[in-house]
Amino acid sequence: MAGRLIVVSNRIPTGDPSGGLVVALHDALLARGGTWIGADPDPSEEGRDRLHDLGNVPYQKRAFRLSAAERANYYSGYANSVLWPVCHRRTDLVEIRSEYRADYLAVNLRLARLIAKELGPQDVIWVHDYHFLPLATMLRSLGVTNRIGFFLHIPFPNITDLDVLPRPKDFARWLAGYNLVGLQTRRDVARAFEMFRADPRAEFLRDGTVKFEENIVSVASFPIGIDSEQIEGIAARADTGPFGAADPRELIIGADRLDYSKGLPQKFEAFGRLLQGRIDPQARPTLLQIASPSRADVAAYQQITSELQAISGRINGRYSELDWQPLRFVHRSVDRERLIGLMRRAEVGLVTPLADGMNLVAKEFVAAQDPEDPGVLVLSRFAGAAEDMKGALLINPHDLDETAGAVELALAMPLAERKCRFEDCLQVVRDSRISVWTDRYLARLASCVPTLSLAPRA
Ligand code: ADP
Repeated sequence: MAGRLIVVSNRIPTGDPSGGLVVALHDALLARGGTWIGADPDPSEEGRDRLHDLGNVPYQKRAFRLSAAERANYYSGYANSVLWPVCHRRTDLVEIRSEYRADYLAVNLRLARLIAKELGPQDVIWVHDYHFLPLATMLRSLGVTNRIGFFLHIPFPNITDLDVLPRPKDFARWLAGYNLVGLQTRRDVARAFEMFRADPRAEFLRDGTVKFEENIVSVASFPIGIDSEQIEGIAARADTGPFGAADPRELIIGADRLDYSKGLPQKFEAFGRLLQGRIDPQARPTLLQIASPSRADVAAYQQITSELQAISGRINGRYSELDWQPLRFVHRSVDRERLIGLMRRAEVGLVTPLADGMNLVAKEFVAAQDPEDPGVLVLSRFAGAAEDMKGALLINPHDLDETAGAVELALAMPLAERKCRFEDCLQVVRDSRISVWTDRYLARLASCVPTLSLAPRA
């Protein structure tokens, strides 16, 4: 595909790329040349009318700046207090404020103008995530006919939840400005089609694309993955024993951003059930939950933190022994190698989101296992990863007894079954590896019906 690649994402990595998606996008940009555009980590409010060079790689890194009010309204507000809860089925947590929507649109329009100024005729734009839903319609309104792709990393909302948005019909119109809308799972695609089917402005064409007023948009699933080979390598040489004398015999690990979508209270309560129902009083399972701090300026995140502290205090108060603390709630980030080492050491990976686009922790846990003595993945059926990972023990995280039962089963599982399930999961993880994901998405975008002309918009 000729033309440079323009990647737009909220976070722009500085320093050496690490982490699957960042490396994959970095590689795609290295291969084709182009620009990575994202929000400036520098909090300066100066120069919001231009993109700032973050430089230092063979492709360009350029940043747009936000005012403090825009950070509050566009990022913490509309993106993380409206769109995030709507897409994660938590409409009870949505906070509607007119300034949130106004700044969300203003930031996207400013960014569209900055991008349009620099765009070559063959350039291809790849927009990432819910921070930039309206970017394509705004670029189109400025006369841009380049191919523009979008990938939604989080779940596609239920159609009824969209009604909570201030202008529910915007959602379909915004998405229809793209040539390709990539979603995590087939279930997400079904939800997007349901939305378009219910919209009189949309018409399904025979090739499966959707004609929406003057635009034609393709919608397809591209389950995101990890750099499995890299994690397998790190895990094979990782330090798995940071516990010293307190090395737990049965280790259950959880690693999540501290987010209400991750089902952490349910995970803790299910572990409490497991302790309560223990038949063998000598069994001393330990749940190590490492939760990286996230979005601490949003009230819902402060509440969930207090809730988790209270539940872990209650469970430990009830079950701890002099030499055993059953629940270890570590509220911080740990470095990647250490985390992968802990995953390899654990007998069980417990991943319990109530809604999750994909959940990379589930895939990382699998890739980190020792093939000769693998641990077992217990996975929420509401994680995108569950759609293909049939070797995991799938659970409904709302059902505490089911989760507790699955963890018990996992702890007692014979080696032959563990290996069989692990091999199944590892195949899925390898097949969806991140480099393949990038190539598949960009090839599909290149084959989409181009936007030939632009009709004036209301
Ligand atoms: P999300 O994108 O919603 O945070 P994912 O599971 O898809 O969820 O990705 C989370 C990423 O963050 C994974 O790569 C995981 O290894 C990493 N991670 C999660 N918890 C921690 C932690 N406590 N410390 C360091 N990294 C973490």
